[in-house]
Amino acid sequence: MKALNFCCFLLAVVTIFGCGDNSPKSKELQSAGNNVRLYAIRYGVSGFSTKELFAEPEEIKNVPFHWLFYLIISPEKKILVDTGFYQEQFRNLFGISLENPDAILTRMGYPPKSITDVILTHGHFDHIGGVVKYPEARIHITKKAFNVIQSQKQLPEVRRFLKESQHVTQYDGSYALDENIFIQEIGGHSPGSCVVYINLDGEKILLTGDEAYVDENIIDKKPVGSAVDPAANKRFIEQAAESKIRFFTFHSPNVVKGEESWREIKKAK
Ligand SMILES: [Zn+2]
Repeated sequence: MKALNFCCFLLAVVTIFGCGDNSPKSKELQSAGNNVRLYAIRYGVSGFSTKELFAEPEEIKNVPFHWLFYLIISPEKKILVDTGFYQEQFRNLFGISLENPDAILTRMGYPPKSITDVILTHGHFDHIGGVVKYPEARIHITKKAFNVIQSQKQLPEVRRFLKESQHVTQYDGSYALDENIFIQEIGGHSPGSCVVYINLDGEKILLTGDEAYVDENIIDKKPVGSAVDPAANKRFIEQAAESKIRFFTFHSPNVVKGEESWREIKKAK
């Protein structure tokens, strides 16, 4: 079943993104543009141990760690890839300096009511904690991640919200949200954890969820330290490194720098 889903995904990627620069579809996308915009949003800053970041850290120490999520704007949709969180208990636990994610979205001109879809890459607090702010959006989550959230004690308000919402789509394997957005279940970092591929005006961009925490996970082919299926995580890391697709993680200190809370990710020239 898994292999079949992966084949369907690859077929979908090849069909829509094209096989290479010479495919007619790819040329068409590059010349016409698809009016998709992508923003990285940083809502928190802290340190984090290399023990969590890497399966085999060379040295155990605290390193800079950012807390990010992403916003995709297309002509029809405004899609969040994860929501960040706002709950005090986690802010205190991790010593994070934090601005509420929905307040940043409002400053950007996209208040919670304007969000049409939310993709949840996996069931950890920093990726799902804010989902309750989007009762009108369609929520997209793997069956496994949904079940894990329902079995956790933490975030009872999120558990209840997802259980009662009429707008939740649960899926297994891979899933095309539309012609520009593909979600692929990896399941290495946590049960049902996903990555997201975006067609940004003809360039394929990868949002890694927490299958990679920081850039070094992929650049240096170092699997993450926190994995329920280390082999699946390693496979993903190696494929991502070899694919040379431009990628963005949810905890890298290199995505949004300085005082800014967000930045637009533009197609590479
Ligand atoms: Zn995370």
